[in-house]
Amino acid sequence: MKPMDVETFKEVYKKRFEDVYAIQYHMGSTLEQFQVLGQVLRGYYTDYWIENNQEKIDNQDKQVYYFSMEFLPGRQLKTYLLNLDVYDTVKTGLTDLGLDFDKIVEAEVDPALGNGGLGRLASCFMDSMASTHVYGNGCGIRYQYGLFKQKFIDGYQIELPENWLRNPNPWEVRKESKSVIVRFGGNVWLEEQKDGKLKPKYEHTFDVLAVPYDTPQIGYRNGVVNNLRLFSAEIPYDEESKYITSEQRQEVNSITEVLYPDDSNYEGRLLRLKQEYFLSSAGIQTIVRYFKNLKLPWTRFPEKVAIHINDTHPTLCIPELMRILLDEEDLTWEQAWNISKKTFSYTNHTILQEAMERWPVYMIESLIPRIAQIIYEINARHIRNKTELYGSELAYKTAPIQDDQVLMANLAIISSHSVNGVAKLHTEILERYTLSDFKTIYPFRFNNKTNGVTHRRWVQLANEPLSQLLDKTIGEEWRFQPKEMRLLRSYIDDESVLDQLQQVKLTNKKRFAKFVSEQMNIEIDPHAMFDVQIKRLHAYKRQLLQVMHIIDRYLQLRDNPEAKLAKRVFVFGAKAAPSYYYAKQIIKLINALADLVNNDPRINDMIKIVFVENYSVSLAELIIPAADLSEQISLAGKEASGTSNMKLMANGALTIATLDGANVEISNLVGPDDIFLFGMKADEVQVLRDSHAYNARDIYERDPQIQRILNSLIDGTIPGIKSEGIDIFNSLVTDNDEYFLLKDYHSFYQAQMKVDINYANKKSWTQKSLINIAQSGKFSADYTILRYASDIWNVAPETEVLQQF
Ligand SMILES: *Cc1c(COP(=O)(O)O)cnc(C)c1O
Repeated sequence: MKPMDVETFKEVYKKRFEDVYAIQYHMGSTLEQFQVLGQVLRGYYTDYWIENNQEKIDNQDKQVYYFSMEFLPGRQLKTYLLNLDVYDTVKTGLTDLGLDFDKIVEAEVDPALGNGGLGRLASCFMDSMASTHVYGNGCGIRYQYGLFKQKFIDGYQIELPENWLRNPNPWEVRKESKSVIVRFGGNVWLEEQKDGKLKPKYEHTFDVLAVPYDTPQIGYRNGVVNNLRLFSAEIPYDEESKYITSEQRQEVNSITEVLYPDDSNYEGRLLRLKQEYFLSSAGIQTIVRYFKNLKLPWTRFPEKVAIHINDTHPTLCIPELMRILLDEEDLTWEQAWNISKKTFSYTNHTILQEAMERWPVYMIESLIPRIAQIIYEINARHIRNKTELYGSELAYKTAPIQDDQVLMANLAIISSHSVNGVAKLHTEILERYTLSDFKTIYPFRFNNKTNGVTHRRWVQLANEPLSQLLDKTIGEEWRFQPKEMRLLRSYIDDESVLDQLQQVKLTNKKRFAKFVSEQMNIEIDPHAMFDVQIKRLHAYKRQLLQVMHIIDRYLQLRDNPEAKLAKRVFVFGAKAAPSYYYAKQIIKLINALADLVNNDPRINDMIKIVFVENYSVSLAELIIPAADLSEQISLAGKEASGTSNMKLMANGALTIATLDGANVEISNLVGPDDIFLFGMKADEVQVLRDSHAYNARDIYERDPQIQRILNSLIDGTIPGIKSEGIDIFNSLVTDNDEYFLLKDYHSFYQAQMKVDINYANKKSWTQKSLINIAQSGKFSADYTILRYASDIWNVAPETEVLQQF
């Protein structure tokens, strides 16, 4: 990399500032300081970017295209500085100039172009692809408004628009000349050509321009710059005259206006389908244009291109590629299908029925008629071929069209060469139950790729004190090879290291406590246990189980302030989908409980509840390093993987968990003494559900501890709640507790008591924390990406790079 010394940086920065704002550099606002720093940095990395793009064309290396409707990158500045190896230079330079580095960092908006784990995974993968020499290209949508901003008013969630582009975004580059047209609606029919071939003819289509905005993805000190390409919908330049009414213009703009705020839930609205086709078509057209520049025969397409579909949302990529190969490139169906199948791979992210995409055929027909025809043909051929081999029952059960609906998962599975789950347990459940019919037909198509997280963002940047301690103790190799964090294990009995580890945690807790004091006006004791549950609010994630536990402790402490319980700060961060009424009621309950508990002098500050507003990547970076306990308490079998569990582990939090998602793998890595497991296992849940023997009211009536907790929801104990208390009570007692909270409660409570006892022994707690940190390197997304690269995309980087891993 080019050298950059502090003095040169300062000169360049000052000059640029004055050129741009025509005032002296120290007179600028923090936002202006950030903007100029962005420009300086851009001037620094752009050479690499251009070089990388040229190399890509010269070397014709295979390209991976990662399609995702969501990316949740968080702020980019520190990542660029770290990966370009100029972090210290820039920080020192700015400090020398009398500027506040941390303030400048915070001036960047945190782009919320995703809901939660799925989008965050896509962003961790972008960082890891660049850092492991995988030529990866992200394809997504440049939503004008990101995920809503959450505010609490009277304890209720209020959603405000998130206009994240109100300030110029210094990292993106508008690539107008690379725009493509995406065609919607109209009529389409097949017309015979002179040579006897059929060609589709279109009329009255609604054409939208897809304009790419590129953001560089810089590898960790390796000179690689990949690209994240987000498309924005605009009116085609030469058709301004066709789109004159404000409705027409609005129809175009609305396509990329907002991100759908639902997580783990299917949204069947037309605008969502438009977004999905818009992304699929724009992305595939771009790939085809790139490939045609290589001047190779079509049969070699899968050698040069791998296309990955992150969940089913971009599945229309498949018929879109078929359309182009058939209609524009004149390939036969068999040729196009073979190419397509070798090119596509698909990741399943959920087994929740309510999250499975299924589009009514009539919607696809009217919105994208040619694509509908191609899906019919895929369906017909599937049924024909598979009936011959496996009989009609299996053929129909796996067909993409059923009951006049297109089942997107079925379409993705039968059209891809690889289908993966995101944790061992999740993949097992897919193969054994959810997708077992497909497993029969395609026994070798399934594989597991357990999710990962990038330690660069989640440890190196978010937790500088821990990073420095690691450097000092085990050397710096872990920064390149997170697995090397395992070296920390040998310090398990080193009093000095344990002491320092405690100091690191305390430093991070004080930083979070300061934030809580300043932003929320709540005083929390950094010596209390910080017990953290941060994730989308969803019934299956069971925030309510933790609420029951808090109420239980609160009532015990009210009876007896001397009760032998650990002092805890319960931290929540969670957004609920705006239409998810039950989840919003739970938010209100947590806030009402916080009001009660935080201000009740009878309990001696033994409990504080901190529900941070507007949970985001940036807040996660603040909270996670401060966590002592990580709550991963979903109903077993429901959480596909989880990734906050990995981030928290890497920062030394101990996990209390059900054996769900990647918790299973965490448990295997640290061993039973260094994790707190509880609750039913996935197969036990299955058996209980199938038996129809579960009776929640019965538990409520017979169990005094649970009865007391639940009664507090309806007897005025929590003054802030109104009908929420009754509704939530009813969901558990009258509606038979769909997520088995009452069934798992005692086991959860026992585990929490064990946590209390363990926390009292500082040394052994810190030893457990050390083990968790040491084992977390295995969850680096770098390794996950290398497994995708070798097993799925067939792009294993040069052997020297691979050997590092
Ligand atoms: C990691 C992360 C998530 C995912 O959390 P889970 O607990 O795995 O669901 C969601 N949102 C943000 C902001 C994250 O950083």
